Amino acid sequence: MPALPLLQINNLQTEFSSHLGVVKAVDQVSFHLYPGETVAIVGESGSGKSVTSLSVLRLINSPPGNISGGEIMYQSRQYGMVDLLQLPEKQMQHIRGNEISMIFQEPMTSLNPVYTCGFQVREVLQWHKGLTKKEANEKTLALFEQVKLPRPDKILKSYPHEISGGQKQRVMIAMAMACNPAVLIADEPTTALDVTVQARILQLLDDLQQTHQTAILFITHDLGVVAEIADRVLVMYKGKIVEQGTVRQLFENPQHPYTKGLLACRP
Ligand code: ADP
Ligand code: MG
Repeated sequence: MPALPLLQINNLQTEFSSHLGVVKAVDQVSFHLYPGETVAIVGESGSGKSVTSLSVLRLINSPPGNISGGEIMYQSRQYGMVDLLQLPEKQMQHIRGNEISMIFQEPMTSLNPVYTCGFQVREVLQWHKGLTKKEANEKTLALFEQVKLPRPDKILKSYPHEISGGQKQRVMIAMAMACNPAVLIADEPTTALDVTVQARILQLLDDLQQTHQTAILFITHDLGVVAEIADRVLVMYKGKIVEQGTVRQLFENPQHPYTKGLLACRP
């Protein structure tokens, strides 16, 4: 492992306020991520996985949300070592567009239904990479090939509703990879897909990681997926990380009662 982590999160805290009071969705969370590593976050629904990942990119709307404490130290290509929580918004936008990408569970909420798939990936390349339309078109085609979309030339002209769920997720991955990110945050990217499509997407992420040394933060509630792809695992419960370790440590010798319960429920 290199000496320095790419991402080092210390005592992160994110709260939501409502008429019922304040909920600590992320409570004193600390973890790190090295280049080329896959770290999984597991935990039941509502345990704070998504809020953790959204907080890393500062995508929490305030109010009602508020990142109320901690630091997110990141080794940026552009700015060197920075605390993402202290970075001016303009630089944060650069990080979101060029260094840390995110893919979500439901591609339909991330792909715009009124633009073709090709247009949407091209936009990212023109906007963030300054490519001409022609260059962006060629690069989009190459990315669609890289994520093994069938008939990439046809997908280029297709609207999101015209392609399958697995294909939409591949378009999203192509879009996320368009900026060659140092970190890819994947929030349950395969949960909505059937098992064979899911396996292919996981294989694809693994290939991309081998080629680009991308660090992946993979959020899931599926322990089978964790066993397959993760180097290390963080277990979240009620906003806190209650246990972390290598996949092997966690599966063979779980410490926390919640982790033991999770493993006992495995099909
Ligand atoms: P997970 O991804 O592990 O299922 P989340 O991170 O989405 O869970 O949610 C953690 C907690 O934060 C939950 O209690 C949830 O109700 C709360 N929460 C998340 N987003 C919001 C929001 N936009 N407004 C209010 N509460 C929220
Ligand atoms: Mg979630």
